[in-house]
Amino acid sequence: MTRIPLVRLCEVSECGFNEANMCRAAAIQVGDEEVSVAPRQAAVAVHPRCDTFTPRRGAHFGAADLHAQVGSCKSESCKYNERFRCTAEAIIVGNHDGHADCKTYHRPG
Ligand code: SF4
Ligand code: SF4
Repeated sequence: MTRIPLVRLCEVSECGFNEANMCRAAAIQVGDEEVSVAPRQAAVAVHPRCDTFTPRRGAHFGAADLHAQVGSCKSESCKYNERFRCTAEAIIVGNHDGHADCKTYHRPG
């Protein structure tokens, strides 16, 4: 049976699904890569964002006994991405440039 990776840790405490660095959604989607090219440079910044991020509004979202899985991922340039499925053992989500990014992202080569 196909294994589905878990969100092992999420450091984004501003998200309503975050409870003590655990994601309490049933599953997350990792999203579109936002690519920015620095002026006159070939540098490319890749942002595999957590699309499920939702700003906290009082009570936690999700449920305390849920441990989020990675439902799908659109960051095709990641070495763990196979047909929009994440094949990593587990992922970590953290803050980057003011938004939630998958920190397990790894560009091959
Ligand atoms: S940012 Fe994403 S991984 Fe983190 S708690 Fe929110 S929904 Fe879960
Ligand atoms: S490790 Fe790669 S394939 Fe898996 S969720 Fe993160 S960016 Fe997507």
